[in-house]
Amino acid sequence: MSENSSIEWTDHTFNTHWGCSKISPRCDNCYAESLARRFGYGWGDTAIEREFNEGHWNELLRWDRKAGREGVRHRVFTNSMFDLFDRFAPAGVRERHWQFVARTPDLDHLLLTKRVGNVRRMVPTEWLSPGRWPAKVWISASIVNQDEADRDIPKLLALPAAIRFLSMEPLLGPVSLKHEWMRRLGGVFVGGASGREARPMHPAWAYSLRDQCAATGLPFLFKQWGQWSPVRLEPDTDPHDQIRRGALRIVKADGTIGGCFRPGAGDVLVGNVGKALAGRLLDGRVHDDIPSVRHHRR
Ligand code: SF4
Repeated sequence: MSENSSIEWTDHTFNTHWGCSKISPRCDNCYAESLARRFGYGWGDTAIEREFNEGHWNELLRWDRKAGREGVRHRVFTNSMFDLFDRFAPAGVRERHWQFVARTPDLDHLLLTKRVGNVRRMVPTEWLSPGRWPAKVWISASIVNQDEADRDIPKLLALPAAIRFLSMEPLLGPVSLKHEWMRRLGGVFVGGASGREARPMHPAWAYSLRDQCAATGLPFLFKQWGQWSPVRLEPDTDPHDQIRRGALRIVKADGTIGGCFRPGAGDVLVGNVGKALAGRLLDGRVHDDIPSVRHHRR
């Protein structure tokens, strides 16, 4: 059970600070920005960011001791409210984080970034030497569509980390993964967008990634549908009234929204039901495969 995180695939969520600059289509509806603004902080290159005191950082040591006592590894999702590889991150914050990584042998640190091209020059130099990247540091590229996959997966795979995985949330288009990538990836996490401004995910995109992973034995985790989930209409129901009221939307196979509802052409209806109700079942089952690695304390 997660101690301080409601995210299914992690035991803890840790933020070194709050704040980030926008670089991708997914940033249009950044949930972290909305949350930060609600608490009175800014967002973007020059904004005032939230930083944390020693007590906050020492949580990492406490979680590590707990994991050690329990004899299990705990996963820490590091950066729900920032991107550690943003060049506008506060001075010294990465170096401080690397120190805590070194002091927490029983934690796996899952670093997710939209800036995978920056990682090589921002991690400790020794990690890039053969066999020196700590097995407990997992690295993930956030990918939302095929363009980002083509651009960023080769950069991710060039890093000498033991576990390199994809975080495809919010998935904004169909993505075809090359076989040569899949052989070298540790897993794929997929999810739809949350929040009132969320764009719906076409279910076929998630099913396709699930099937691509199954065909190659790659761990696949379905995080959530998000704000919108597929709905089945009762026979003889006209969806247009609900569409007008914003309760339903038509999603075309290419991700465009609206128009006439033509199911034979790959159109689906999705309902604005909210993340909790939408849940995380694909074809009636949970997909929760997590990458794994043999750990060495270093
Ligand atoms: S990279 Fe992530 S945290 Fe940063 S602005 Fe974009 S969505 Fe928000």
